[in-house]
Amino acid sequence: MKRDPYEVLGVPRDADETQIKKAFRKLARELHPDVNRHDPDAEEKFKEAAEAYKILSDAERRQIFDRYGHEGLGARGFESGFQGFGSFADIFDAFFGGGDPFGAAFGRGGGAIQGGDVAVSVDISLAEAARGKEVEVEYDAVTTCEHCHGNGAEPGTPIDTCERCGGSGQLQSVTRTAFGQLVRTHPCDACNGEGKIARTPCSECSGRGRVARRVQLGVEVPPGIADEQRIRLTGRGHAGERGGRAGDLYVVVRVAPDERFVRDGNDLVTVIDLAAPDAALGTKISVPTLDGDEEVEIEPGTQPGSVLILRGKGMPSLRRGRRGDQRVVVNVVIPRKLTHEQRDLLKQFSASLGEENLQKDADESLFARVKRALS
Ligand SMILES: [Zn+2]
Ligand SMILES: [Zn+2]
Repeated sequence: MKRDPYEVLGVPRDADETQIKKAFRKLARELHPDVNRHDPDAEEKFKEAAEAYKILSDAERRQIFDRYGHEGLGARGFESGFQGFGSFADIFDAFFGGGDPFGAAFGRGGGAIQGGDVAVSVDISLAEAARGKEVEVEYDAVTTCEHCHGNGAEPGTPIDTCERCGGSGQLQSVTRTAFGQLVRTHPCDACNGEGKIARTPCSECSGRGRVARRVQLGVEVPPGIADEQRIRLTGRGHAGERGGRAGDLYVVVRVAPDERFVRDGNDLVTVIDLAAPDAALGTKISVPTLDGDEEVEIEPGTQPGSVLILRGKGMPSLRRGRRGDQRVVVNVVIPRKLTHEQRDLLKQFSASLGEENLQKDADESLFARVKRALS
């Protein structure tokens, strides 16, 4: 099912030529594989956008589409899709004529190319997320070759101007496309768009000027980080080419769930079990916190769903560092599998209960307590 080209480009029905062109350029820029290395569907999406543009940028096709839709175009012999085009770069060049349509970022034919981003993940525990942690990450990154400092020549050997392109790094050719004749500019294949050729290629990088290296890096995970949050380290990704800046490193932090706590923003919620007699009599219990176990006083007559607040025992806030609270929800456990003796005792006890033993607090229903605990 083909999508509506207006929808694909995100333009209104009455969009004019400039709007359509602008929308397409913006999309193309986002989806170009030199920029978008993470989205495996980028090429398909780009083709879709290119097709939408092909329709809307051509008055006749647009009119047919407006009246009859995609089917109308097919019926009138306007082939759709880009089967005839070959590679992604060909499609791109067909629209933009090669060269360097978007400035340095694309670097076709000699310009600077920005290095790609790298993503790694680290796993930490909830307690580590609370305290913050220095973690070591390891990843493969393309870096500038240190042996030749990136120029691709064995140190001390000459670098010649490329004869094929005369040093411009670009070659032009005329091709026929569905849009008519096009002068295409593409990087010189002899010098790879560098304009220069090392007479003796660097022995370390075979003349590429870049090498893939295992990089180890200490990364400071700040206290209070949440699961799946990312830390961005500018310039720690792949090295750029021809003077382009390096990409960034993204460290995705995975915080392992801790069965003792449920995280709620900067607060932690713990559920503790308390035997019914203890809830009635009052007691002291041990509650796990991120700082170790803590003795907590249980008042006599504590009701199911009661919430005790341990101030400042939650997670620190990323920005201010102030810690949230730990909310302890009391789950009163009713004894099961009673012996005959226990049953008798409980019967006696039950018979002894009076009205005043069972009175509720003013307005605290169990429901209200549970709701408060979860709020
Ligand atoms: Zn080298
Ligand atoms: Zn060349």
